[in-house]
Amino acid sequence: MSMFCFQCQETAKGTGCEIRGVCGKNEEVAKLQDLLVYTTKGIAEIVVKGKLDVTSINEVNHQVLKSLFITITNANFDDGAIEIQINKMIGFRNELKKQVSNVSLGDAAEFEVSDRASMLEKASKVGVLSTENEDVRSLREMIIYGLKGMAAYTDHALNIGKENFDIYTFIYEALVATLDDSLSADELVALTLKTGEFGVQAMALLDEANTSKYGNPEITSVNIGVRSNPAILISGHDLADLEQLLEQTKGTGVDVYTHSEMLPAHYYPVFKKYDNFAGNYGGSWWAQVTEFETFNGPILFTTNCIVPPRSEEIRKRIFTSGASGFPGCPHIEADENGKKDFSAIIEMAKQSKPPVEIESGSIVGGFAHNQVFALADKVVDAVKSGAIKKFFVMAGCDGRMKSREYYTEFAKKLPKDTVILTAGCAKYRYNKLDLGDIGGIPRVLDAGQCNDSYSLAVIALKLKEIFALKDVNELPIAYNIAWYEQKAVIVLLALLSLGIKNIHLGPTLPGFLSPNVAKVLVEKFGIAGVGQVDDDIKLFMGE
Ligand code: SF4
Ligand code: SF4
Repeated sequence: MSMFCFQCQETAKGTGCEIRGVCGKNEEVAKLQDLLVYTTKGIAEIVVKGKLDVTSINEVNHQVLKSLFITITNANFDDGAIEIQINKMIGFRNELKKQVSNVSLGDAAEFEVSDRASMLEKASKVGVLSTENEDVRSLREMIIYGLKGMAAYTDHALNIGKENFDIYTFIYEALVATLDDSLSADELVALTLKTGEFGVQAMALLDEANTSKYGNPEITSVNIGVRSNPAILISGHDLADLEQLLEQTKGTGVDVYTHSEMLPAHYYPVFKKYDNFAGNYGGSWWAQVTEFETFNGPILFTTNCIVPPRSEEIRKRIFTSGASGFPGCPHIEADENGKKDFSAIIEMAKQSKPPVEIESGSIVGGFAHNQVFALADKVVDAVKSGAIKKFFVMAGCDGRMKSREYYTEFAKKLPKDTVILTAGCAKYRYNKLDLGDIGGIPRVLDAGQCNDSYSLAVIALKLKEIFALKDVNELPIAYNIAWYEQKAVIVLLALLSLGIKNIHLGPTLPGFLSPNVAKVLVEKFGIAGVGQVDDDIKLFMGE
């Protein structure tokens, strides 16, 4: 076995990628990512054991976020960039050690590497399989994956100028706990739930950052056709990058289209003032393999999900920023004032042909918490009159495997008196179907990006209050969630920490769950997988 990774839903055979990632990650990148995570554990050990004040080490906090984010599925394939980040983290670590000279530290805080070969050798000893007990390994990795998702959302909030030092403190505590052989399985289960609690805080922080800067999402019809100008496609979650790109393309004759998880940017009032913000091109992240061909212009990845491009022609049009990276693709760094210079992308766009139209019409979204609260009377009346029998939270991810067709079929076959609440890439499996409305309430309410699953939880808690229920699980809401990568792991842990039970998770349960840990999730939280569409609908509808 040359590498081992089982952090995403598409992991080989549902158990682990051992030779090369299904995502395209090679052995070297996988190992360097393992070592990068290990460096964050070493820093955490110094911070926690040395009782360092996290408010006094902010550059370190930010680089820990970035390091964890870099290791998320599909975010960064650039071995050179990861090697640089490892060296940077070791440098920070060694500086921090000078502040805690009387504290006894473990290997993660002490190891040294001199070159790529020694990094790879070290990585072979500190990866996932270095924890021998499969239950402890499962819990440790679930915590790490939750932290990766948390780091991603916290990093986006930071880019908009919002941070929460309690989240940094928790990230350090949890990272150290994954090195602690004295912790029992029960203690690790408790820490997993605590990770979910801080996941709620991270998503709330990002919600506050996004809405305070860009306004509350509002019901918006988004063009999915194309115009005749040359254009740039922007993907990922980073609204700060989008804002800078829109500012820099204003008046240049270059349009900007969103792809995949950037679609919900159209729902924010601030972005509507840009005449060149033309619409959304294509569908979910994995569809990029064909959609980038016909888009013709340059593409900016602000986060995951990158699929290694099929051709050199497409690779030459890809730019990355933030935690994302791909070998040979220009990476755009912020200057000391946070400004990113996108002029190279804009110049390339000017020389490109306009995008080829692959579909036409529009899709509607923008049903985050504030907008749904504005419709609360209508929604409550529809529930009381029986016009809406049940809500289905179908948030989460999309993926390239055929098994995801389950979600399209599920949405199509749901009874007409049900409403789908969605957020994240999962929506692309049914957001272009004509599922109609119930008394003017669309049957698919899209809250936004996967972090906006927080919005769906806020809506559920508000409905609990309106209907004066003791338990959020008494609401007529069913959860049929799709997952793919680690941001979805933190969303899941956040929902569990809010007391939401009986979540169905698919298309397959995580490969990182050992049989015993899976049993705990089933017994304590009613977590279940998915089966056949007709059977599942009957089950959910209580028939
Ligand atoms: S991220 Fe997923 S597909 Fe990629 S190597 Fe890991 S488990 Fe495999
Ligand atoms: S919805 Fe899932 S696949 Fe899409 S960006 Fe979020 S976590 Fe990743």
